[in-house]
Amino acid sequence: MQLDFTQDDEAFRVSAREWLLANAPRKRGPLDGQSARAFAQAWLSQCHKDGWSGIGWPKEYGGRGLPTEKIILWYEEYVRARAPSVLDCTFVSLNHAGPTLIACGTDEQKAYHLRRILVGDSIWCQGFSEPGSGSDLASLTTTGLVDGDHLVVNGQKIWTSYADIADFQELLIRTEPGSKRHKGLSWVICDMKSEGITVRPIKNMAGATHFAQVFYDNVRIPLSNVVGMLHDGWRVAMTTLGFERKTAAMGLQLELSIKIEDLIALAECPPGSAIGKQLAELRAEAAALRAMTYRTLFKDPVTASDGSLMRLYFAELSQRIHRAAMDILGADALTDSTWTHDYLESYSETIAGGTAEIQRNIIAERILGLPREQPA
Ligand SMILES: Cc1cc2nc3c(=O)[nH]c(=O)nc-3n(C[C@H](O)[C@H](O)[C@H](O)COP(=O)(O)OP(=O)(O)OC[C@H]3O[C@@H](n4cnc5c(N)ncnc54)[C@H](O)[C@@H]3O)c2cc1C
Repeated sequence: MQLDFTQDDEAFRVSAREWLLANAPRKRGPLDGQSARAFAQAWLSQCHKDGWSGIGWPKEYGGRGLPTEKIILWYEEYVRARAPSVLDCTFVSLNHAGPTLIACGTDEQKAYHLRRILVGDSIWCQGFSEPGSGSDLASLTTTGLVDGDHLVVNGQKIWTSYADIADFQELLIRTEPGSKRHKGLSWVICDMKSEGITVRPIKNMAGATHFAQVFYDNVRIPLSNVVGMLHDGWRVAMTTLGFERKTAAMGLQLELSIKIEDLIALAECPPGSAIGKQLAELRAEAAALRAMTYRTLFKDPVTASDGSLMRLYFAELSQRIHRAAMDILGADALTDSTWTHDYLESYSETIAGGTAEIQRNIIAERILGLPREQPA
C-alpha cells in the first residue's frame, strides 16, 4: 500500500523526529514493579508537557485530535528513535481505558479520569481474563451484586498485566444473578486500593513479574463507577477490545520493522549467506505487516477478522524474528540480556490478546467461510 503524505504531514514528521531525538530516553526502562511505573510515568509526563500524549484523542478531552496519517508518522518516528516500548504500564490507560471512557463514560467519569491518564498520573490494568475464562471470556464468573448504591464484588482475575502497580482497573464482572454468557455483565472502574483486593504477581519464564492474579473479597465499588449501563458490559468490553484493532497495536507492529534492522546490524552476515537470506525474508515480512497495518487503519469499519489477521501475523512474525536472533547469537545468547529476554517474552505473543488458535478460528469462519465451531 502506498501512502501519500502532504507537506504538512512531512513537517509534522520532522517536528516529531526532532522532539524524540531531543527527549526520548536512550535506555530501556525497568521491566516491572514500582521502578517500571516511575519510568513510564516520567516519560508520559514529559510527552504530555510538550503535547505528545494522546495525540489521537479528541481535543475536548485533552488530546490533539490528529488524523490517522499523523498518528502513523508519530509511531514511525517513535520506533525509529527507539523510544520506550509502547507496551509499558501506560498502554491500558492510554489505549483502552481512556478511549473507552470517551466513548461510553459519564461526564463525571471523564472529568475525573481522562486528564490523569494523559499526564501519566494514573495507571490502569485490564481485569477481563479469569482462570477458565480466557479465550471464552463470556464464561466469566466473578460477580458483582447490587447492594444499595454499591456493587459487592467476589471472584478472581488472572494474567492481569501491571495489576500490582495500577491505580485503577477496567473490571468485567457478572452483575445480573443467574445470567449466562454475554448477558448480565458490567464494565466497572475498580479502584485497586479498595479494601478486599489481593494482588499476587506471577513470575514468567523470562524472570519478569509484569502480570498477576487478583482476588476480590467483598470489594465495594460505587454504582457510579459502572461504565455504560448496568448489565451492558459486553458491549462496552467489545468497544474496549475494538481499540486494539486501530492505532493501539500500530506501535507494536512497527517496532518489528526496527527490530529486524537491529538484527541485520547485529548479524554482520556476508551477502549470499543462508542467514542473510533468512533476514532478507524477515525484513520483507515486516514490510508486509506494516503495509497490512496501514491498509487496516484506513478501513471503515475495521472488523474483528481484520484484527485477527494482523494480530496473528504480528505474533508469529515476532516469534520468527526472535528465534533468528537466538540462531545468530548462538552461545552468546546465554549472556545477552536484551535479545534473550525478548525471545523468551515472545512466546506470549501467540497467547496474549487472543491465542493463535482463536485468531485462526475467526479467520476460518469469518473470512474463509468455513463451518462454525460447534460449542463443546
Ligand atoms: C503476557 C500476557 C499478558 C496478558 N495480560 C492480560 C491482561 O492484562 N488482562 C487480561 O484480562 N488478560 C490478560 N492476558 C490473558 C490472555 O488474554 C489470555 O491468556 C488469553 O485470552 C488465552 O486465555 P487462557 O490463558 O485462559 O487460555 P485458554 O483459553 O484456556 O486456552 C488454552 C489453550 O486452548 C486453546 N483453545 C481454547 N479455546 C479454543 C478453541 N475454541 N479452539 C481451538 N483452540 C482453543 C487455546 O488456543 C490455548 O492454546 C494476558 C496474557 C499474556 C500471555
